[in-house]
Amino acid sequence: MVHETEFYDILEVSSNCTDEDLKKAYRRLALLYHPDKNPTEGERFTRISQAYEVLSDPKKRAIYDEGGEQALKMGAGYAYSNPMNLFDMFFNSGPSAKRRSDKARRDIIHELGVTLEELYNGTNKKVTIKKNVVCEKCKGKGSMNGKTLKCRICDGHGVIIKTTEVAPGIIRQTQKFCRECDGSGVQIDPKDICKKCNGKKLIESAKTFNVRVEKGMFDSQKIIIKGEGNEEPDKEPGDIIIVLDEKEHPVFSRSIEDLLMRIDIQLIEALCGFQKVFKSLDNRDLSISVPKGIVMKHGDIKLIIDEGMPHYQKPDDKGRLIIQFFIQFPDTLSEETISGLEKSLGPRPEIKIPSKVKECVLEKFDPEVEAKRHHSHSVMDSESSIQELQCTTS
Ligand SMILES: [Zn+2]
Ligand SMILES: [Zn+2]
Repeated sequence: MVHETEFYDILEVSSNCTDEDLKKAYRRLALLYHPDKNPTEGERFTRISQAYEVLSDPKKRAIYDEGGEQALKMGAGYAYSNPMNLFDMFFNSGPSAKRRSDKARRDIIHELGVTLEELYNGTNKKVTIKKNVVCEKCKGKGSMNGKTLKCRICDGHGVIIKTTEVAPGIIRQTQKFCRECDGSGVQIDPKDICKKCNGKKLIESAKTFNVRVEKGMFDSQKIIIKGEGNEEPDKEPGDIIIVLDEKEHPVFSRSIEDLLMRIDIQLIEALCGFQKVFKSLDNRDLSISVPKGIVMKHGDIKLIIDEGMPHYQKPDDKGRLIIQFFIQFPDTLSEETISGLEKSLGPRPEIKIPSKVKECVLEKFDPEVEAKRHHSHSVMDSESSIQELQCTTS
């Protein structure tokens, strides 16, 4: 039973969301509030990371659902991971993770929305990405003539060393990053500063890429454009990592290579057979029919071979299209219809009514209201048990 919902609210998901929902939510929000893009939202980025770390772990999620964040903190030695590490692990997992640590800082992660039609048929998408490139004018030196001076503030060390006497005879030495030279130890004479990059060595530029989305690619799949990420002087440039985000489709949903859909049918169709025509994701008309004499029940599931998603890199093989049928029952029936049905479907089964019987009323059952009722009960239960404890100790 979920008592506290803050972590769910942070990730903008409901408390009964799936692991898949969590991944999608983290991916979207972590990219949106990453300090590279949103330097003022560091705290929010951290909370997004913490919420995902807890909810994506079934054990931690169970503890959180039971007793909130407080219950997690009470667990022995519990601490959150560094949000940056979590982010890197989420987006850059793989054997090359170690080599990446420095280079990964220059990677650009870009989420690309794609429709199910685009994943079914394959497509080319134009993506424009802003990135830092080494200034051409000064070749990344920051000064027009390549001359640099030793930083006056840190004397070329890049850090400022400060000694303080904390107690008589006890001296503490602290190192502070030099902001004046950004830790480089060098400065440029104001008259030599490159006019194009203003001494920053880098300029921001936008470049458009043609991204090939192959048939059968899936949500979260990465497409890497090597060496096109951010540049830094004398360093290997980062990569662009395109992360696909499959958009919801009004008709089909996807389960790996299978497609799922729901078809509503009228009661007459369920009982007497029917034909339906609908569009495939590549815009062909597909027809299905159930012959007279076969009755379709509410919730029945059928499948069509080879009308699912194409397999990635083997697009001639396709998954299955799985269809679930829902019967649209009428809310009321006229006297005339009832007597007609009685004639054709036969009489109701006979029942024996005992001489002494209580007539009961059928009330409406609302699952949402029930869930709330259940919730408030369990809160009351835990409160009353606290009271009991207090009574025994006093
Ligand atoms: Zn300095
Ligand atoms: Zn320059």
